Amino acid sequence: MSFFSSILDLLFPPKCVFCSRVLNKTDDGWCDRCTEALPYADNHGRQDGETFDFCVSPLYYTGVVRRSILRYKFRGASHYAAVYGKFLAECICENPDLSYDLISWVPLSSRRKRSRGYDQAMLLALATALELDEVAAQTLIKPLDVQAQSELGDKAERSANISGAYIASDTDIIAGKRVLLIDDVVTTCSTLEECAGVLLAAGAAGVICAALARGE
Ligand SMILES: [Zn+2]
Repeated sequence: MSFFSSILDLLFPPKCVFCSRVLNKTDDGWCDRCTEALPYADNHGRQDGETFDFCVSPLYYTGVVRRSILRYKFRGASHYAAVYGKFLAECICENPDLSYDLISWVPLSSRRKRSRGYDQAMLLALATALELDEVAAQTLIKPLDVQAQSELGDKAERSANISGAYIASDTDIIAGKRVLLIDDVVTTCSTLEECAGVLLAAGAAGVICAALARGE
């Protein structure tokens, strides 16, 4: 460890991304207690889709995971992406039938990205791709803001809200490819269904999804 990183660790000791306890030197971004107690999703959180094949998620969106993701999305903790990427990459590798040619993500609208300063699903896709020794590419854009899905109720309401919100950004790189679409949280799957539908219409051979956390 370099002199400067030692000084930085004294000033800003690394903390567990989930529970915020100060970490031991050997910890890799999260603590032993969380390794034991995280709400790991049963059967890799697998859920079938209509437009996508299936979606996997390593964690349930509850407790310390939910609080961590809220800090990641709304309180500037963008560095959590590196740890989240490890969880997603491991989950993807543990599902051998999850085959893909291209890693991409569910984008924020440019207005929301400007106000937040970063696109959390893009960072997640880049971090996951890095863990898998691959790269991630943008395939979708969201030209307009719509009401946040989390503010809406059932699946029908969420599907109507999101309908037409995304367009394919580059049909050349999508054509004939199986796209692995990454997002942070999946609840009703409306957003993933919509995005996968757009990718299929743009010529994708198939879509498969991975989200860091899913509703219980
Ligand atoms: Zn912890």
